[in-house]
Amino acid sequence: MSHANISIFIPHAGCPYDCIYCNQRIISGMVKTPTAEDVRAELAAAVTKLKSPANTEIAFFGGSFTCLPEEYMTGLLEVAADFVKRFGLKGIRLSTRPDAITPGILDTLSAYGVTAIELGAQSMNDSVLKANRRGHTAADVVTAVKLIRENFAGELGLQIMTGMYGSTFDKDMETARSVAALSPDTVRIYPTVVIKGTELEKVWADGAGFDGGWRGGVGLDEMVSEVADMISLFEDENIRIIRVGLHASETLEATMTGGYYHPSFGELAENELFYRAIKQKLDTPGDYTVYVHPKNLSKAIGQKRKNIVNFARLGYNITVRPDMTLLRRREIRAEQA
Ligand code: SF4
Repeated sequence: MSHANISIFIPHAGCPYDCIYCNQRIISGMVKTPTAEDVRAELAAAVTKLKSPANTEIAFFGGSFTCLPEEYMTGLLEVAADFVKRFGLKGIRLSTRPDAITPGILDTLSAYGVTAIELGAQSMNDSVLKANRRGHTAADVVTAVKLIRENFAGELGLQIMTGMYGSTFDKDMETARSVAALSPDTVRIYPTVVIKGTELEKVWADGAGFDGGWRGGVGLDEMVSEVADMISLFEDENIRIIRVGLHASETLEATMTGGYYHPSFGELAENELFYRAIKQKLDTPGDYTVYVHPKNLSKAIGQKRKNIVNFARLGYNITVRPDMTLLRRREIRAEQA
């Protein structure tokens, strides 16, 4: 049975930081900060629908959980810990900033049975972090990882933002290599999305964003290709990738004005990885039947048959067929007609 989360979003309207892409101030007043009792009610409704409680974590998302006022934070943890105990859930997952980790905080999280901490590293390049006013450095990420590994028994995740203001493909890939070197258990990769009303929207409008300007030809396809490179890098290091791209939502789609958003970004990156894997199996141009695990058929074909069309342009006429004996992890057999 696969892993599941009961996701509880904790907006942080009072966050003292000022990341240029963040919309927390804009949404304050529109989104209610839940009380511990609100969270209790949300969890009570969610647990009745669970298929596998033992594989389910209560996940506090919002980016800066351990920056919340202590009493509020422990109130939320207390409710979550109660549900974990009563319903046999796997544990509690939360995301926070790298500079909001101390031995004392880790003791608190451990005492409430937190099972996974995710750090929003975003970039490991100090100039990119500064340009985006993250308010922490790459060294803070390294220090937090060390503290977590020494003082916390649960899982460590790192989150990366690709295509940040002031970054480049090379800086993004350097970030991925630095993150891999820290050996997290999991990573999430979030391509930058521009939200209406943010500081980032202004620089986007000026055309001075990622790799010399978003409007300078660095489009979604290039970002998909970059993220595919990152996925390969993390897979080679046996680091589990638990999310690629922001979750699609109507609110996000209504408030985004640019950046690298696609409702199925992860799927696009998978399509690209299948394209690359198939290409390696092809010889001279001609007609080929390519076999993949049945669950991978649509990934191999690509959205809107993109892979088939791109191969046809190179002179390869590809038919994709299922083969149960192949591994789901992109194992491919190709036969030339
Ligand atoms: S740390 Fe940055 S991204 Fe997170 S809530 Fe604060 S301003 Fe927003």
